[in-house]
Amino acid sequence: MFKFIKRIFSKSSTPNESNYMVDIGSTEKICPYCSVLLTKFPGRKTKCKACQNYIYVRTRPSDMQRILVKEDELVRVEELWAIKNGTYEDFLYKRKKYDHEKELLRVKLNRDPTDVDIQLSLLQKELLVHSENDDWGLYRNAKMHIAKLLFKNKKYEAALKEYLEVQFIDLNGPNNALRINDAPSKVLPSFSKDSAMIAPGVVYEIERTIKKLNRDIESIKDEFISCSEVLRKELKLPLSARAAWEKLRKHCEW
Ligand SMILES: [Zn+2]
Repeated sequence: MFKFIKRIFSKSSTPNESNYMVDIGSTEKICPYCSVLLTKFPGRKTKCKACQNYIYVRTRPSDMQRILVKEDELVRVEELWAIKNGTYEDFLYKRKKYDHEKELLRVKLNRDPTDVDIQLSLLQKELLVHSENDDWGLYRNAKMHIAKLLFKNKKYEAALKEYLEVQFIDLNGPNNALRINDAPSKVLPSFSKDSAMIAPGVVYEIERTIKKLNRDIESIKDEFISCSEVLRKELKLPLSARAAWEKLRKHCEW
């Protein structure tokens, strides 16, 4: 019994605060891979002209200095921040989930998955969990994450589809299930008019993506209606795609 308790405690021990006082990265304007002198200290992720590797810019938790790090040091910086912020347990849990997904994808794709592959796959699974739990607000948030991730990686067509779907869900008024003693309790319907909204953030992202794709409004309308109709059947949404488009058009004066 004692051994068991000891094991639990040693397993869940969080590194103490002094552990984040580790020097990592460089505060000098030199490439962390090939040590070439850079013309200036980068403000954000840049490619080294000499060795073609990506240099990352972060803030060091021990002294709040801006530092330059290699790609494989990013997780370590994240870890040091988690120790400093007291979120180390959460960091470890997310890391485990990430590594597990990486292994699954490696088998499935028969190649090394990219960071984006892994993040997208985790978010797709999150969508399933939220839909099973009847948490449509959380479902919509996860979809928004997917859209942002796709946009950041220049997959604009795919990002636009996700943003349009988020907008359609928002116009249907998504609700989360209320939980009493961890069991979902149906006070609100899954979707209701009262919760319907047009979030300025989503409209902004849609417009930004349309500009990147150089698409006209007529083609956006067609895409909105076709992807919304599919989603409407899938999620049994109350609002028709055409009615949703009219509401959006009036709001945005497209
Ligand atoms: Zn270099």
